Amino acid sequence: MRILITFITVLASAITAALSSCGAALAADPPCKPTKNGTVWTWPLSGAWIRAGPTILRPFEPPRHRWDPGHRGIDLASYAGDPVLAAGPGVVLYAGRLVDRGVVVIGHGVIRTSYEPVEAALPVGTPVSLGERIGTLDLGHCASAACLHWGLLTGHGHGTTYFDPLLLLGCGLIRLEPVKAAP
Ligand SMILES: [Zn+2]
Repeated sequence: MRILITFITVLASAITAALSSCGAALAADPPCKPTKNGTVWTWPLSGAWIRAGPTILRPFEPPRHRWDPGHRGIDLASYAGDPVLAAGPGVVLYAGRLVDRGVVVIGHGVIRTSYEPVEAALPVGTPVSLGERIGTLDLGHCASAACLHWGLLTGHGHGTTYFDPLLLLGCGLIRLEPVKAAP
């Protein structure tokens, strides 16, 4: 696991640079398609949303420094009340209110995915499988429409590093594979 952490840390700056251009392109014409059965990651929304074509209202905009403003995830247009799905197999690490919004965090070994604003459906500690419903989309993140803010991160506190979650779907230079989820 330590090797994987080092691997991710060393690549972080290069990945961030690559992803900033990738995310900008996706805002106009998403090249990333949902994964098929048998792979380990998927979009966190499904059904009609996928069939209509994913719409990214705001791409990943990594801050230059950790204290700078930016956008530490991507905003996916959707509808309030839509089911929100686990992007990959893991375990629920957080499910509850954070300031003024509902947040769900799924642990996938050393990486985590986050989802907001979401009314959680599962308690902390629940194992989840690929595409399993973890909650219901709420209003409040995007001003113009309902949207899901989907994040990908590693580390904790000042050591937290954010990535474009589209990496999970094969957009970018590498594909992150989950390690065995913590019990
Ligand atoms: Zn957002």
